[in-house]
Amino acid sequence: MNKTCARCQKVVYPIEELKCLDKTWHKTCFKCTECGMTLNMKTYKGYNKMPYCEAGLAFGWIAPGLDGSFDA
Ligand SMILES: [Zn+2]
Ligand SMILES: [Zn+2]
Repeated sequence: MNKTCARCQKVVYPIEELKCLDKTWHKTCFKCTECGMTLNMKTYKGYNKMPYCEAGLAFGWIAPGLDGSFDA
């Protein structure tokens, strides 16, 4: 059973796989849910199991949990 990308629903092969937020993504599909900016494991903020960029905080698209953290 092949894994499929959480964004585009196409098959993800190991070489292009990125595991994050309990989902599998193409590295090229791991983008901000709101603005589409390309993200990586260091730059993303997880919110409701979807990736967002830093601007999500500034614009209020995302908010940290009660303990001040985001989804891992
Ligand atoms: Zn994809
Ligand atoms: Zn963004």
